[in-house]
Amino acid sequence: MNSSAAIEVKGWCPGALRPMPSSDGLIVRVRPRSATLGLDELAALADAAGLFGNGHIDLTRRANLQIRGVSEATLPQLHEVIARLGLLDDSPDGEAVRNVMINPLAGIDPAEVLDVRSIGGDLARLLAFEKSLWALPTKFGFVVDGGGVLGLAGQRGDVRLAAIARGPDAAVAVGIETANGVEWLGSVSPGEAAEAAIETGLAFIGVASREKRQRMRDLSDENLASIRSAIGPRLDALRQNPRNADGPLIRRAGLIELGAGRLAVGIAAPFGRVEADQFRVFADAMAAHGVKEIRLSPWRALYAEVPSEQSGQSILVAAASVGLIVDPGDPLLQIEACPGAPGCQSTSLDTRGDGRRLAGLLPLFGFTGTIHVSGCAKGCAKSGTSDLVLVGAEGRYGLVRNGTAQGSPARRFSFSDLAADPGKIFDADRGSRHD
Ligand code: SF4
Repeated sequence: MNSSAAIEVKGWCPGALRPMPSSDGLIVRVRPRSATLGLDELAALADAAGLFGNGHIDLTRRANLQIRGVSEATLPQLHEVIARLGLLDDSPDGEAVRNVMINPLAGIDPAEVLDVRSIGGDLARLLAFEKSLWALPTKFGFVVDGGGVLGLAGQRGDVRLAAIARGPDAAVAVGIETANGVEWLGSVSPGEAAEAAIETGLAFIGVASREKRQRMRDLSDENLASIRSAIGPRLDALRQNPRNADGPLIRRAGLIELGAGRLAVGIAAPFGRVEADQFRVFADAMAAHGVKEIRLSPWRALYAEVPSEQSGQSILVAAASVGLIVDPGDPLLQIEACPGAPGCQSTSLDTRGDGRRLAGLLPLFGFTGTIHVSGCAKGCAKSGTSDLVLVGAEGRYGLVRNGTAQGSPARRFSFSDLAADPGKIFDADRGSRHD
């Protein structure tokens, strides 16, 4: 395809067929199916990132990979690799709406309610091929939560499916994410779940404004009532509500005991950035221990089932040796930071360097909340709220508590001011919501 024409489009997420220009070249997003990549696929993508991009790979908050620094000249060769792996869609419009998030340990986790891979797979196929669905906004997302130790209740989406019962009475709740939170509309059998989600998406298209790029949470009460009327007749009454919160952010890195004798490792990337060489090191270590595939998560960590504790520890040592996060208590897991300077021209702030410096301060203050360091109000690293946001403007940071990068801080500080008196940052009593 002619990628240049596609690159002119604004207000969208990058794809493989519709890459996004950035200061370091084109960003090419690869959407793995069922959040899974074989180790050979991972190695092929890491090699391609080095050959056809600048070697930087981002783990995204939609559980995808982004290969950075691609040029118009190298894009066709990268497309060839992605196509060979079966991950290149037929249409950029179908690819753009194929936004389905499932649990990273689906099918592995003995504690899950249901293995939702087939529901997620059916949903992804319908989105990619049903042209009537391509009118969905490209940021519109579907969350398919099978429960278990790595649940998705805390992840944002527009349409939600959540497994609530297994066995002969297996059921999946169907919900929508409104401005007031998740509203559960009813339930269906697992075999009907993907279709129910699609019908909910079509009902959304029927009432939403394309010009305003509305999401489910932007709809009026009247529009939401239309969606309830459209989808309601095909749903059963809910026998129980899905859980509405995940556990704390523990055990998301390191060795994870899943129960029933099964083990997994979690490896996180600081701020979601992994270099192609880092991928190769831990992919080699995993292969040496018989691991066949990795799973991606929306919190920028990778998972793999391992055959024994010893293998898991060897893989974690290899990952730690190249700077990846394998300790669930690592304060870097609390921090999101956009690329900032010098990569992004919208700020002069070294957001990721400042994020690392902040991480060093967290244990001293016992701060266990989430932090977002953003070079500007665009908030590329995170759209949802964080306990603390450092948002940059004109070379200084403002502090927003329990908000987003769009918050309006009253005062701004240089990072060195903040580092000299970290109480300004971590002592919530010294500031209200906006300092
Ligand atoms: S949030 Fe602003 S400074 Fe950070 S990467 Fe996005 S545009 Fe650049």
